[in-house]
Amino acid sequence: MGAAPRFDLPEADAFTRAYWEAAAERRLLLRRCRAEGCGAAHHYPREFCPRCWSEDVVWEEASGHATLYTWSVVHRNDLPPFGERVPYVAAVVELAEGPRMMTEITGCPEELLQVGMALRADFRRQETGDTVAVTGGGEGEGGVAVPVFRPA
Ligand SMILES: [Zn+2]
Repeated sequence: MGAAPRFDLPEADAFTRAYWEAAAERRLLLRRCRAEGCGAAHHYPREFCPRCWSEDVVWEEASGHATLYTWSVVHRNDLPPFGERVPYVAAVVELAEGPRMMTEITGCPEELLQVGMALRADFRRQETGDTVAVTGGGEGEGGVAVPVFRPA
């Protein structure tokens, strides 16, 4: 497309590359602390454990199960390309593994949203336009797969 700036595309760096490559394969990763007496999982991915500050943290594949913690229906967003997508449901979900995650709920009418409802991870492939953040696997098309959630 054009050169319009976009605000929906993640930038992969050396650390988050594994996360985005897994997302391209429809796998959701989180981080798990291996420190003695901790073992906490966290999201978004950090290089250290936000609970005990250990750097002994590894990638782990999440089950993709989550429940709805809170949400907000967005009717206006001036950052491209979100303006074309409104209304959409911005949400925080609680992963079965514990961490909460900012995401978007798809495939569910607003009036059916309920705190605690069961959700499953899904992935939306977004065209990168000029910005090649990650070359995903899948069907060989460039793009970034972004985790979203839908009713289980
Ligand atoms: Zn820890």
